[in-house]
Amino acid sequence: MSDAPQKIRKLLIANRGEIACRVMATCQTLGIKTVAVYSEADKNALHVAMADEAVHIGPPSASESYLVIDKIIDAAKTTGADAVHPGYGFLSENPEFTDRCAAEGIIFIGPSAASMNAMALKGAAKKLMTDAGVPVVPGYHGEDQSLDVLTEEAGKIGYPVLIKAVAGGGGKGMRIVEKAADLPAGIEAARREGENSFGNGKLLIEKLIQKPRHIELQVFGDRDGNAVHLFERDCSLQRRHQKVVEEAPAPGMSAEMRRAMGDAAVRAAQAIDYVGAGTVEFIVDVANGLDDAPFYFMEMNTRLQVEHPVTEMITGQDLVEWQISVAEGHPLPLSQDEIDVLTHGHAVEVRLYAEDPFNGFLPSIGTIGLFDPFAETAPNTRIDAGVRAGDEVSIHYDPMIAKLIAWGDSRADAVHALTELLAQTPVIGLATNRDFLMRALKHPEFQAGDVHTGFIPSHEDILLSAPVVETRDYLVAAIAILANRHKHDAMQATDDPWAALDGFRLNLPHSELLKFETIEGELLIVTLEQTASGVHVKSADEALSVSDVMLSGDSLSFVKTGKRRQIFVSVSDENVSLIDDTRTLTLKRHARDGGGSDDADGPGTIVAPMPGKILELKASVGDAVSKGDALLVMEAMKMEQTITSPRDGIVAQFGAKAGDQVSDGSMLVVVSDPE
Ligand code: ADP
Repeated sequence: MSDAPQKIRKLLIANRGEIACRVMATCQTLGIKTVAVYSEADKNALHVAMADEAVHIGPPSASESYLVIDKIIDAAKTTGADAVHPGYGFLSENPEFTDRCAAEGIIFIGPSAASMNAMALKGAAKKLMTDAGVPVVPGYHGEDQSLDVLTEEAGKIGYPVLIKAVAGGGGKGMRIVEKAADLPAGIEAARREGENSFGNGKLLIEKLIQKPRHIELQVFGDRDGNAVHLFERDCSLQRRHQKVVEEAPAPGMSAEMRRAMGDAAVRAAQAIDYVGAGTVEFIVDVANGLDDAPFYFMEMNTRLQVEHPVTEMITGQDLVEWQISVAEGHPLPLSQDEIDVLTHGHAVEVRLYAEDPFNGFLPSIGTIGLFDPFAETAPNTRIDAGVRAGDEVSIHYDPMIAKLIAWGDSRADAVHALTELLAQTPVIGLATNRDFLMRALKHPEFQAGDVHTGFIPSHEDILLSAPVVETRDYLVAAIAILANRHKHDAMQATDDPWAALDGFRLNLPHSELLKFETIEGELLIVTLEQTASGVHVKSADEALSVSDVMLSGDSLSFVKTGKRRQIFVSVSDENVSLIDDTRTLTLKRHARDGGGSDDADGPGTIVAPMPGKILELKASVGDAVSKGDALLVMEAMKMEQTITSPRDGIVAQFGAKAGDQVSDGSMLVVVSDPE
């Protein structure tokens, strides 16, 4: 029997961003005091503002702050916290940290160090699972890492194979190898990523499942040895092995298969005396459909997952509350039968990232101009965020902005609600993957439930083509500039923000010229005229007349041919951003005094979007390249990024060579006009 339950009164959250805020939200409902820790970069962060107390733990780099066990333990002791929640990432799966907490008499919200150790390395975990009767992907996970042995084993498995860093996570350290000749290069790349990101270059080789679905089971264990599952999540929509869309339950799964996978997951948890929240990840071979498809254990994550909200929405349970209760020593709140009865409907989550899908998913850093995580949303939806307008997305941490989640009676209802939520959640100030997510959710195959891990790569033509900018957009941008100016004038005149929010009527005769620079670098002039009947804008080849223009907050609306239209806008001296249901556009305003395509920073000059290291040049000076051709590969934010040419032209100059460290904004390559 376990010890008597111990009430947690003050909880330190050893994390940042959305998960720190998520954990604090539950603490607030339970009346538990919260302690935040923060690095220098996070002193104004949302998680710090939300906490009852906050402790500064060092410089921005995670290795000097969020990952330093001594600093976290000190913070817990000085604030008198009786427990620590690690969130995900950082120290969440670090057995040394778990042991330190135990030694200091601080409750660690998570499993024991022994459970973590059992699952820490993918190879050892696979062996353990085989012994527990849980099926694993056929492959090699032996000690001998010589090229000869790996080559021989890969041959035995049969190509194509998947190489994985045993310590890998988050999709890093994995390489698909199609044929024997490519094996050495694949091994080198996976090993390099394993060493750089996890300090462990050891690899395993698996059979590559050609048409897989990623289906994982949420499990929970308590100190009395009980274990249950809270159903599955389908996380098959992935890019480079990273989850993009997650949902529960898995579309099209039969009750028998759900039972079989649930049983296997509970067996996995019991095999390691699991306590707390965990996820058992399976890969399902759906080459012949989902019915009775073979499923294999991939790994177990010994923490709360990013995608836990979809499980919360279908079960109506608060998993952080469960974690706290189990850590206090209480038995599991519900039995398997009770969970089965409570579960209903469907939930879908998307991960909104600061990255540019139309430019190789390059992470984008900078200040968030517009984003309101507290905006009132439909009752069946939820936004989990760790940032708000004015916050920085920096190179130091994961560039996730928020998770958007929606529930519905049916899958179609949930997907529809999520699309609406995305449409009503504009983010301005940096590039995001919102339009890409929207296109994925609207794709007929996704809507039909035909999900698999190859979905995104096989629909790149639709998902990843840059949005088309039309002349009409510049006309709307001109209206936005005018409306924005009126709003500012009104606010200055009255010093009363309500005067501006009241809307304004444009009734003074007025006309002016506004200049933009098109994507192609050309000058586009818009004339704007205000009359008693409304606003008339026109360019050389298109005209638009609207009336009743209103700008309320960031929402611009006007009446066109009898109908009111609404669009989110943001206006600065340099740009106008327009966000409608399907597109996020940033249109460049033309500099007053010249500039344009001949600028050094014109479209042909590519600068480093963030600090990083150049790994390889993919072209040479003098090469003719087409728009989209790879120019170089750099490593930034621990991921390899391919920088592609923004236009057709000739490579005129490289500003760096392989091996160089480059800083944010430094010139990487110039592509000049073709002669
Ligand atoms: P990580 O720990 O980096 O998340 P996983 O082992 O969980 O790595 O795998 C991540 C993703 O990679 C899976 O969701 C799946 O899409 C893909 N994957 C993993 N193993 C295989 C395999 N043997 N065949 C095909 N795809 C795989």
